[in-house]
Amino acid sequence: MQGKILIIDQLSTNRIVLKVKLAAAFYDVLQAATMAEALEIAQSTDLNLIISALTLPDGSAAELAKALTRLGPTLRIPVMVCDTDIPQHDRLDALGAGVQEIMNRPINEPLLLARVRSLIRAQNTTAEWQMRDDTSRALGFAESASLFEAPTKVQIISRDMLAARDWSAMLRAHTRAKISHSHPDTALRDITPDHQPDVFLIALPADEQKTDASLRLLSSIRATAATRHAGLMVLQPHKDPAIGAYALDLGADDLMTDGFEPTEAAIRIKALIARKRIADRLRDTVRTGIKAAISDPLTGLHNRRYAMPHLARIAEHSIASGRPFAVMLADLDHFKRINDHYGHASGDAVLIETARRLRQNLRAVDLVARIGGEEFLIVMPATSINEARIAASRLCNLMSEHGFVVPGSKTPIAVTISIGLAIGGLLPVGGRFETPDAEHLVQAADKALYAAKNRGRNQFILSRPAA
Ligand code: GH3
Ligand code: MG
Ligand code: MG
Repeated sequence: MQGKILIIDQLSTNRIVLKVKLAAAFYDVLQAATMAEALEIAQSTDLNLIISALTLPDGSAAELAKALTRLGPTLRIPVMVCDTDIPQHDRLDALGAGVQEIMNRPINEPLLLARVRSLIRAQNTTAEWQMRDDTSRALGFAESASLFEAPTKVQIISRDMLAARDWSAMLRAHTRAKISHSHPDTALRDITPDHQPDVFLIALPADEQKTDASLRLLSSIRATAATRHAGLMVLQPHKDPAIGAYALDLGADDLMTDGFEPTEAAIRIKALIARKRIADRLRDTVRTGIKAAISDPLTGLHNRRYAMPHLARIAEHSIASGRPFAVMLADLDHFKRINDHYGHASGDAVLIETARRLRQNLRAVDLVARIGGEEFLIVMPATSINEARIAASRLCNLMSEHGFVVPGSKTPIAVTISIGLAIGGLLPVGGRFETPDAEHLVQAADKALYAAKNRGRNQFILSRPAA
């Protein structure tokens, strides 16, 4: 099933004409005759798209779009209008209310289906990000704070630079977005880290020989990392349903089929900008959520969830490269006493400073993770036994040599750490070669740590592989 579409029209013949076209393209089609009926279905069914007549017995498509928005942000079902002889001011009203597309009957079937595909594709993408965003929230990760919103940028791409300039001027009367224009030949070059448009308006040339180049540019913009999330609107110089359908299938988000009309263009661009902002925010929260899921909020180090699979990858890589690697478990000595003497806040300050010292004294490729209350896992790829010993000894010293400044004490307090060290990789064990797995290495390092504690703390012990 391609998606679930609700058709709303008072006239059953209109509904049936549409239903036949959509069902033939394998869409699951539901029907309603009134706005009230439609809103009820929208709340109880997972719809991908609504196709409505312009006027309904108890309202209009514009009212329906507004009502859907009021019902809740998760109910972002795209609405499209299909009707006969739609006056321009009704078009603008509906678009302004959040309707995404208006099609006049008689309907061109390929264009209708391309538009339906495009709207459902966009809706699915939003829904997927929405789901991941919900998961991030359920896990307790706060919304990413993006206080600063860069000014919106719209880029017009046209071979006819004079027309592009006119359009920019006309659009400026309707929007505060920054509008620039470029020629299709240089459009991709004009995109820099400082200039990443939110919306592109690609004007297809009147000369049909050159249409292909503009459509290729459309695909490139869709495929380029810096611009793939931008809104893409295609402007056709005159009606050509086949090319319009093709542009939508290539990834255009919106289409003006009948030349440039400033008010309508401005409304459509505004809608594209709004949709992009929502999508950007969703992606951002998900990214923040992922980051939060793998890091420790107190120290900023990675956490156990990140560290264990990372260690497994280093172990695999080491077998391929033949180079050994080091695993350390480091645990603060008598940390409970620090909490007891100086308070929990001082304990936290020690943890933060410990993380800083460890991080600063290891290579960028080394992993330092906080895997327990006052326990750290260090993984050093491509490290020999000798190098690992030197590093472990250095880490013990950099803790003990300088006191820690904490809120509960006027003078810096002494803090030490004990380390259990294990070496991973292809190792000679009693005449054979063995590759202990990540879990065994951590166990070995843990045993060595225990021994270091028993021997008086503030030292490291190297785990010897069993002979
Ligand atoms: P040992 O030298 O044998 O490791 O002794 P220890 O006192 O360091 O070890 P123990 O496991 O007895 O105590 C660890 C303490 O760490 C207990 C717990 O309250 C404290 N702790 C764990 N997480 C945090 C934290 O995030 N902040 C603070 N301030 N204390 C923590
Ligand atoms: Mg401890
Ligand atoms: Mg401990």
